[in-house]
Amino acid sequence: MRSLVALVRAALVRAALVRAALLLTGAAFALPAQVAPVAPPSPPAGPIVLRTDAALDGRGNVLRGATIRVTDGRISALDAPVAEATIDLRGYTVMPGWIDTHVHLDSHWDRAGRIATGTESPAEAALGIALAGWETLMGGFTTVQSVGDPMEGPLRDMIRDRGFPGPRVLTSLAWIAGRGDSTGTPAELRALVQARKAEGADLVKIFASTSQRVGARPTLTEQQLAILCGEAKALGMRSMVHAYRSQVSAAARAGCNQVEHATYATAADIATAAAAGAFISPQVGLVVQNYLANKARYIGVGNYTEAGMATMERDLPLDFAICRIAVGTPGARVVFSTDATAGAHGRNAEEFLGRVEHCGQTSMAALVSAQSLAADALGMGDRLGVLAPGYEGDIIAVDGDPLRDLSAVRRVVFVMRGGVVYKWAPTARAER
Ligand SMILES: [Zn+2]
Repeated sequence: MRSLVALVRAALVRAALVRAALLLTGAAFALPAQVAPVAPPSPPAGPIVLRTDAALDGRGNVLRGATIRVTDGRISALDAPVAEATIDLRGYTVMPGWIDTHVHLDSHWDRAGRIATGTESPAEAALGIALAGWETLMGGFTTVQSVGDPMEGPLRDMIRDRGFPGPRVLTSLAWIAGRGDSTGTPAELRALVQARKAEGADLVKIFASTSQRVGARPTLTEQQLAILCGEAKALGMRSMVHAYRSQVSAAARAGCNQVEHATYATAADIATAAAAGAFISPQVGLVVQNYLANKARYIGVGNYTEAGMATMERDLPLDFAICRIAVGTPGARVVFSTDATAGAHGRNAEEFLGRVEHCGQTSMAALVSAQSLAADALGMGDRLGVLAPGYEGDIIAVDGDPLRDLSAVRRVVFVMRGGVVYKWAPTARAER
């Protein structure tokens, strides 16, 4: 009887022979001609002109009576003749589409209503990530940074290059998880970053602490962080670091661009991060609340345990506290970042309410943190997050005045991204 090894070897030899035969056969026929990738669909050719009475410019200013012309996907004027208006958004509050710098679009419910794991079919997984993108766009978020899964790359490309409906996506692809000394030598650390670059990542996402659910312990030294974030910078990529406690100041000193969570950090850690120019993003309004509301759908997978959930619930006031410290630290750039996972997609705007209620931010500052400030965090401050000529036609409208009643952020009635209108659902209120 042949051994398993021999059987496998025989199968491999057969496969190689078949491949060789196919190559020979192919050589007898003309190879398919090289073709260019299919061109992306163009935005609507004719200008779309939005008549508004109240608009926020994304930098903290209110514009009265702007008539916004969007040509070839970009804003071309804020003072177009009223007679040109094609869509009447008077009665609503118009503003740049929101930007969430930290989401997990791959995270979704499976058919049974539980957090999907690797056991579902590739088709279901692909549709799950696509649905999360759609829900997020409908919630007013025209750009997201999705940080943690290789599937985010094809989704980004389908939306950008093929007209698939969804928000503009930037992605880290798979994250880099710190594992102490065994993370690798300096050369190996640089190779991890180089691999992300080669795979097409827009930024690197680094875990410098274990999950809050399992102790929030450090997993990388400041020196290792400096190597990783330094290599990212050398390759033209930004770096985002999941950090708790003193890892917050370590990541900032290491030159990393954005520090996430910051729970259990001190005011001194935050001051260091602010002085280093890092973007800081605590979460207060959505991610933990969503985990707790959907606990039964998460429990039993990975580190989603009763004990882990209890820790998050117990320490939510500490998240609020660090957020208050951050927004009160002079010079701190507290950027919008929800860490949205399954159950939270499309409800990203809840974080605005959290920012005001739990961090003491003004409504305007909270909104700007998801507009021009978030665009700066993505290195796209000259393209996104502002209502001004030359900027992308990423424009939304909400029912109500969010500066007086922030719950208006839950009522998104209009969504345009890149000059394409994806949502226009006028409410009775606007029939005047
Ligand atoms: Zn995350």
